[in-house]
Amino acid sequence: MVGQMLGNGQTENSLRGWRRGSPPGPALTPLSPQVSVQLRRGHAARHAGAQVSGAAQGGHPGAESGPAHPRLPRRLKISHLDSIFLSRVSWANVGGLPGESLLVPLADPLSLLQQNYLKAIRLFPGPLKRMDLAVQLHTEPEYKDETMTVYQIPLTGEHWCCKGTGEASLLCFPGDEQMSARRHPDLVTAFLCKLFPEELCTPTDPGPVFLVLECPHEGFVDAVCQNETFRRYQEGVPEHQVALVIHMTPEAVLRDSRYQQWMERFGPGTQHLVLNENSSAVHNPRSYKIQTQLNLIHPEIFPLLTTYQSKEAEAVCPVPIVRGECLLKYHLRPQQEWQRDAVTVCDPDMFVSEALELPDFQTRVKECKESLSAVPGNVSPYPEIVFLGTGSAIPMKIRNVSSTLVNTSATRSLLLDCGEGTFGQLCRHYGEQVDQVLCNLVAVFVSHMHTDHHSGLVNILMERRRAFAALGQAFSPLFLVAPEQIMPWLHEYHNHCEEILGDIQVIPSQSLVKGCENIRPKAKEFLSSLLESYDLAEFQTCEVQHCKNAFACSVIHKSGWKVVYSGDTMPCMALVQMGKNANLLIHEATLEDGMEKEAIEKTHSTTSQAIQTGMKMNAEFIMLNHFSQRYAKIPLFSEDFSEKVGIAFDHMRVRFGDFPAIPKLIPPLKALFADDIVEMEERKEKRELRLLKETALVLDKLTRGDSTEPACQKRKQAKNNQELPDKKLKTVN
Ligand SMILES: [Zn+2]
Ligand SMILES: [Zn+2]
Repeated sequence: MVGQMLGNGQTENSLRGWRRGSPPGPALTPLSPQVSVQLRRGHAARHAGAQVSGAAQGGHPGAESGPAHPRLPRRLKISHLDSIFLSRVSWANVGGLPGESLLVPLADPLSLLQQNYLKAIRLFPGPLKRMDLAVQLHTEPEYKDETMTVYQIPLTGEHWCCKGTGEASLLCFPGDEQMSARRHPDLVTAFLCKLFPEELCTPTDPGPVFLVLECPHEGFVDAVCQNETFRRYQEGVPEHQVALVIHMTPEAVLRDSRYQQWMERFGPGTQHLVLNENSSAVHNPRSYKIQTQLNLIHPEIFPLLTTYQSKEAEAVCPVPIVRGECLLKYHLRPQQEWQRDAVTVCDPDMFVSEALELPDFQTRVKECKESLSAVPGNVSPYPEIVFLGTGSAIPMKIRNVSSTLVNTSATRSLLLDCGEGTFGQLCRHYGEQVDQVLCNLVAVFVSHMHTDHHSGLVNILMERRRAFAALGQAFSPLFLVAPEQIMPWLHEYHNHCEEILGDIQVIPSQSLVKGCENIRPKAKEFLSSLLESYDLAEFQTCEVQHCKNAFACSVIHKSGWKVVYSGDTMPCMALVQMGKNANLLIHEATLEDGMEKEAIEKTHSTTSQAIQTGMKMNAEFIMLNHFSQRYAKIPLFSEDFSEKVGIAFDHMRVRFGDFPAIPKLIPPLKALFADDIVEMEERKEKRELRLLKETALVLDKLTRGDSTEPACQKRKQAKNNQELPDKKLKTVN
């Protein structure tokens, strides 16, 4: 098996776009060209990390990691991945790894080529702990597999942090100097990849060479330009002809005359691919499609998505360059050429006409609009709830993992959980406004330590810091309300990867439980600033029934409104008590009715259990979220649905005045997703039938006095069969 990934980004969604039918032979595909590392620090926002994957003969590609793990299409399977190359240790480069590893069979060793990241990542509260990772440091000799040799070229840059050019913004926190020695922020590894010669060809193909280079800022330009290895590949020697240079390079570096001369030295036979914030990427067309269609139902509750356009002018280069696009391919053999067949495109008009052609859709939308005109239009703008991620376990095309933004006023926002990809969702929702939203963000609540609830945090911290600098606003740390068990991981990350501790002020969730007496003075102080910032009367947590140290929270505003968020939990009395008379309960509904047993096994709630919890607390309205990815588009409706219940979708925007409107959206939603609902109902019927048969069999045996095979074992077998396609999703969430 051959396969490597170079780079990083929202790997999951990007890999998904990989299509069947690519011709065999080595090809390179930027999975998420929207970004290069520097973006995360000094520049305009982007949704995803840069990442390049190399596919070898026979279509077994390798992968690299970024913030979002992939559910892979047939051709590109993460289980076929055996090496990940990291150009440097920053969240932009490594953030996808924990998520990705959810999908890698745990027995497969994975060699991880880079630095001291592993130590920090070992503490990541997620599945990495169980993974067999082998690390090859940048100081070690080249890497070889059946297709190519990869030479590591370490590059040492100048410490740009303290140079501070306008937007460079990187705050230096006290004690940084010593720390940075451990973190190696000034070390980047480039990869020179040389395919083995193809002897069957006449004349013999000497083996194409390509170079993957991250040059995060101007501080690295000298190191690149003066590097001896690169120089050898610029001398025009045929076996050193470079087919392609992949530049993960910001515009400022591309504009640098030293860098431009260096690019020219490769000669006219070399292609240059640039991946940075100016690369265009509709990284997930299906989410644009669904949002365009939902928007036809209610334009305010389902606003259209935006794409973030970088404000940075594109550098003019002395050599022709190709700007990265998601899933653009470069073939190295048999012919060197670009291939755009998989590049994602969005055609909003087509999305609209597809929806309008669905049976009953237009009628249901019309009826819905008529009934809504009767609903009083008195909608006060705040609080406003924006659902950023409404799926569980792993990010999928249509539902990202947990994250909900509560805008308490025009200038204050609170994030309830922060799963992987939260920042990207904010970009797609707010476009140009994303920096202001990040500056408005005063606190993040992390409900528990499952990765689908917090692995977007480091990225939010990085982007938030950048946003303050970009808008010229005074930086203030973020309040982090989280189980105190998050701290060892954040410390390790801070000590070994990137500085983050200066960005947060931690209030342990444990200390906000009603009646908690040993709240530390620091936490008490942070809490009162938090309450003051949001004009809150109360911020409370309670322990819920899920994993250890899982919490729900309740927020009461001084004006009287109350919002309660369950996190992940089974039906829980403490939550009912804390949430009494809430205006809005946001509750997980991971599984459909009829799956109570699975819900207990996985410590989650079914739809009806979630609704009943809301009824018990006398909540004015209940929004359900955290749907199992088996309900990608829409969960199954249960009989408990009433005028008090709504289903959350990613990017849905809800204000209290919308409560009467939300249940009226259900008929057009059912029309839009009719096919999916039929399919899910069929699955449900089959499952019920199977259970009935099993029960009948057991009863039969019992009446005959023959009970040799325990029923539970049979049940287990049936369940295994049924869940086979979902196996990969079986993880903690
Ligand atoms: Zn979860
Ligand atoms: Zn969980």
